[in-house]
Amino acid sequence: MESMIICEGLVKIYRVAGREVVALQGLELTVEAGEMLGIVGPSGAGKSTLMNVIGGLDRPSAGRVLVEGENLSEFSDAVLDCYRRERIGFLWQIPGRNLIPYLTARENVELPMIVARRPARERRQRAIELLEAVGLAERAKHVPAQLSGGEQQRVAIAIALANRPRLLLADEPTGELDSATARTIYQTFRRLNETLGLTVLIVTHDQNVAPMVDRVVSIRDGRVSTETVSVERREWRDENGEARKDDDPLFSDGSPLSSEELVVVDSTGHLQIPESYREQYRIGGRVRLEAAEEGLLIRPAQMGDKGKERQGG
Ligand code: ADP
Ligand code: MG
Repeated sequence: MESMIICEGLVKIYRVAGREVVALQGLELTVEAGEMLGIVGPSGAGKSTLMNVIGGLDRPSAGRVLVEGENLSEFSDAVLDCYRRERIGFLWQIPGRNLIPYLTARENVELPMIVARRPARERRQRAIELLEAVGLAERAKHVPAQLSGGEQQRVAIAIALANRPRLLLADEPTGELDSATARTIYQTFRRLNETLGLTVLIVTHDQNVAPMVDRVVSIRDGRVSTETVSVERREWRDENGEARKDDDPLFSDGSPLSSEELVVVDSTGHLQIPESYREQYRIGGRVRLEAAEEGLLIRPAQMGDKGKERQGG
């Protein structure tokens, strides 16, 4: 099956007042259709830049993005506009940025469909369906000020899905919410992911995101540095050996969640060694690679090491 997103050697350089900021430096990432992916990383790592490039809000300085096999850099500005409006759903951190304050929830959800010139009846019906899908049917007539932060974000999800995108990009959607409310947002994502086959990318600072998504990639200095793969998110066996499905493994007891953090080597061979290992093994600058029986060994090179070492030393 074709991958939903392939980023190859993505570079984004911003020029501000004669200074260059490298936001992405050769980022590589593949996301499968129907995947729910968490993206974590320190502030300034390039997470939002990546979302903006994938969402067609910004163009990369080098490298390419393929979405469902189509190369975004071959899109004209007009096609890119259309791509952004009709094929991508966006969700931002501040609920207010997602909603028009003087429109009701239903009117807010209808807005993208008005822009896309859908007929009024279809708009209204779809808006109601979407509000039902995010569990807010009874709030259809409320304006944003009458809704809680979590409800506003769920309306925002309904808006994002109005034009039936196959890809939802959420940039710190739970940043302003408490952890219990954040959880309802993740559960909403998961339900939509499962019922609509929606591919969801979520940028977050939430260290507990791993059990809620299929995979977490960690971005540092404009590259993917590590990946955490949930080995058993969807199915696990209970004490009687029965296969069970779990919607929310984080909060149901006894679900044996296991995950493994993997370091990513990109196509040019770059690898980021986690800081704790760099400190522990004093790895920095030059290192020596040694082929060992089980894999590759990285050893610190000594100061003044010219590459020759006495045997048995
Ligand atoms: P994150 O979302 O991970 O916090 P960003 O993608 O927002 O990181 O930013 C990555 C780097 O690029 C930062 O150094 C940031 O200051 C810079 N940057 C982001 N957007 C712009 C912009 N529009 N103009 C100039 N610099 C930018
Ligand atoms: Mg950001």
